[in-house]
Amino acid sequence: MTAPKRIIQIAQPSTGDEEWQAIRAPLQSGWLTQGPQVAAFETAFAERHQVRHALATTSCTTALHLALASLGVGPGDEVIVPSFTWIATANAVLYCGATPVLCDVDRTTYTIDPASAASKLTERTKAIVPVHLFGRCADMNALRAVIPAHVRIVEDAACAAGADYCGTPAGGLGDVGCFSFHPRKSITTGEGGMLTTNDDGLAERAQILRSHGASLSEEQRHAGPQPYLLPSFDELGFNYRMTDVQAAIGLVQLGKLNAFIDERDHWTSFYEDALAGIPWLRLPVKPNEGRHAWQAYVTYVDPETAPLPRNELMARLHTMGVATRPGTHAVHSLGYYRDRFGYHPEDLPGARDCERNTMAIPLHNRMTADDYRYVADAILSLAL
Ligand SMILES: *Cc1c(COP(=O)(O)O)cnc(C)c1O
Repeated sequence: MTAPKRIIQIAQPSTGDEEWQAIRAPLQSGWLTQGPQVAAFETAFAERHQVRHALATTSCTTALHLALASLGVGPGDEVIVPSFTWIATANAVLYCGATPVLCDVDRTTYTIDPASAASKLTERTKAIVPVHLFGRCADMNALRAVIPAHVRIVEDAACAAGADYCGTPAGGLGDVGCFSFHPRKSITTGEGGMLTTNDDGLAERAQILRSHGASLSEEQRHAGPQPYLLPSFDELGFNYRMTDVQAAIGLVQLGKLNAFIDERDHWTSFYEDALAGIPWLRLPVKPNEGRHAWQAYVTYVDPETAPLPRNELMARLHTMGVATRPGTHAVHSLGYYRDRFGYHPEDLPGARDCERNTMAIPLHNRMTADDYRYVADAILSLAL
């Protein structure tokens, strides 16, 4: 028999026995959804990210929707979103009945281009959503310098748990922050998200909208003096509550976050050394302003000098058992956005270029030293 073909995946969650043990408590107690585990996870997450409030949700997508709804974003409003991002960032604006206005990104950091964002401002601009793509914080100081103070800032920190910028953790860099615990992200609860804010009023509003617009949470109601009475419902809300089973997993994962990032950061230095000699492969740059969370390691294949087109390189690596992916898509070139808003692919050339030429290579906490060497050697073999 031949040995099984080696496959190094692009990402893999690191969960195991500790998470397995942790879910016993909620399963045995019978309190399965938003309860004591969620409360503990929220407190720990807020502490780690140095924010006053953290509210667990079912995903980052719903956290984004909740954040925008809590800020009062609605029909007639415009929200500026970088085009090179996961589609959910823009979709959340549409869920509010508002209009996403896509802008361009910086081709070296892959984050929002402040000048392009500024060029999209109108009197209808209500908010802007800088995305900390792949775990690198957007250049918030440069952005603030060009955005009027009344425009609210929602951080899409889906990839940025544990990242920071000029001494402030992601999640506290704008009015509200939104994180993801999808298995592709730094820490996971299966599906899940977190909304963070330092604004007490906003936190209260988000808490109410998270649970059907109910004036009291289930937990408060059960613990209160009249648990038999229903809360009042004065506005349209949603059900975006996380389960206690997920939160129990999240607490364990959060405890590992720093170690996960340190380990990935270590291996980015390895890639820098190993791949430095390939002139057509631009490696992601470590930021000077703070900590990169390295949710993904996204390189750029120079189309002018690469020996093969990017997709061809990805196909070759695939046959060697090395998984790669385009960094992400340019939302303005996706069918729904193109057809509904009449975008042309070349409207935002930076995002288009990143969509076409970026290549994420494996970086995750299940990889061994041998795996990293294998990936580097596979890429080097294409450079000969
Ligand atoms: C993953 C991701 C999301 C969506 O997160 P979910 O938890 O899957 O809803 C949003 N924005 C960005 C930038 C992402 O990478």
